[in-house]
Amino acid sequence: MKLSFPYMGPTIVYAKLLELLGHDIVMPPRPNQEVIDLGVKYSPEFACFPFKVITGTYLKLMEEDVDTFVTSGGHGPCRAGYYGEAHKRILADLGYDVEMIIIDAPSDDYKYFYNILKKLKGNNSWIKVLQTINIVYKMAQALDELERKVEILRAYNKNSKFNKIWMDIEKNFYKIKNLSDVKNLKAKYIDKLSEFNNTIPAEKERYRIGIVGEIFVVLEKSINYQIEEKVNYFGFETERSQYLSEWIKENIIPFAGRDLEKIANKGREFIEINIGGHARENIGHILDFKERGFDGIIHLKPFACLPELISQSVADSISEKYDIPILTISIDEQTADANILTRIEAFLDMIREKRYREVV
Ligand code: SF4
Repeated sequence: MKLSFPYMGPTIVYAKLLELLGHDIVMPPRPNQEVIDLGVKYSPEFACFPFKVITGTYLKLMEEDVDTFVTSGGHGPCRAGYYGEAHKRILADLGYDVEMIIIDAPSDDYKYFYNILKKLKGNNSWIKVLQTINIVYKMAQALDELERKVEILRAYNKNSKFNKIWMDIEKNFYKIKNLSDVKNLKAKYIDKLSEFNNTIPAEKERYRIGIVGEIFVVLEKSINYQIEEKVNYFGFETERSQYLSEWIKENIIPFAGRDLEKIANKGREFIEINIGGHARENIGHILDFKERGFDGIIHLKPFACLPELISQSVADSISEKYDIPILTISIDEQTADANILTRIEAFLDMIREKRYREVV
């Protein structure tokens, strides 16, 4: 098997999992214009934008003779659950015969999950599989903890400096072999980032923006136009609703996560039934950010994403009732960087003005 997977967020974590299990992997390309154009050309016009980007990624990987893709599934009324099968058919129509290994939450179907694990296990013992899952989970947690710090510190320092540190973090974490490598690297970079703690201003001068939305556009910087860097550039800290380690905890580690359920319950006031994707969780996250004193929310919605379209439709009511500014940005292949930058700048100016008026 020659394996690959979609590019989304800290992709080195998925690569490391498969690599430590001894698979022959090909690192997917970071989505760029070529990948997007390919995906748009060969996907149904009204497919949601992440679907198109992943189509483009798979097609680009066909040049590397990849024959198997590992991807996540989805449950509930949203297209994510159809991605694997639909991509397989598109590739077959173009003459490529690939296998799709679709990882769903074990609680959806324990037997199916066991069979998927068995396929990925190869000749490794079950103990080695569990140890490997533990290593990559700890790796994902360490990366997320460091990224959360970067998202604060970058607001008070030059973007370029922190982007360089982040690239260095990713490069070195990709070399890890065991748990102690993860522990040592995490400690090294926590120390390095702590050197900048004195740049954080007094509490009343800090501004915080919560980023919520569909998981792919929230996690993948090359698709969301580096939204966090843009917000940090204007002196605002950011925190996302989604981090990979939390997704693993909530979906894969048995009996580990229940935080998301609590967050989703907060969203019931505005979305009573499960409409798929992360719509209800996102409403919950908006309310959670508000309770934690955040100054505003940026909501990312891929084109043709029905769950996030519903979230957008209740955003005004939430904003009015809970007095929190919300900016929804729709993302597709037509989105322009300058447009996003201008809208963010205007939104953040409005938030500063709002705080000024409240204080005076
Ligand atoms: S959440 Fe939205 S973008 Fe993501 S798969 Fe579902 S419909 Fe598509």
